[in-house]
Amino acid sequence: MDTKTLAQLRRELETEQAELIATLTTRLREDWERECDNLNVTDLIKESQSLPGAIRCLGDRLEKVDASLCAMDLEIYGLCADCESQIPLSDLMQDAAEQRCPQCRTSNYYHHDPAQRRVATDPH
Ligand SMILES: [Zn+2]
Repeated sequence: MDTKTLAQLRRELETEQAELIATLTTRLREDWERECDNLNVTDLIKESQSLPGAIRCLGDRLEKVDASLCAMDLEIYGLCADCESQIPLSDLMQDAAEQRCPQCRTSNYYHHDPAQRRVATDPH
């Protein structure tokens, strides 16, 4: 991946991370009366994931975005979290926080994650 593309993806992730942190901090305070202004990102993720519903999804998303930014710092960004093969650039352009190659996404979807499997077999 060229440095220009990488810088662009990093900006996207940083923007999304800032938005998620702002949203989660506000929601935790207003909906759950939890004071989160001084929490770091890791604690904010944990706090959100301990709650049900939409806030949990936001926490999961923040975890993914944060993991991608960490991967950039470690210079392993764009490698699949499961098999370490290169994630196609088109996938990363679509979702800069993508963590898995298409093969692992497919096998995860069908074999590893019972929650995902329920969604897949849900008649709706
Ligand atoms: Zn993979």
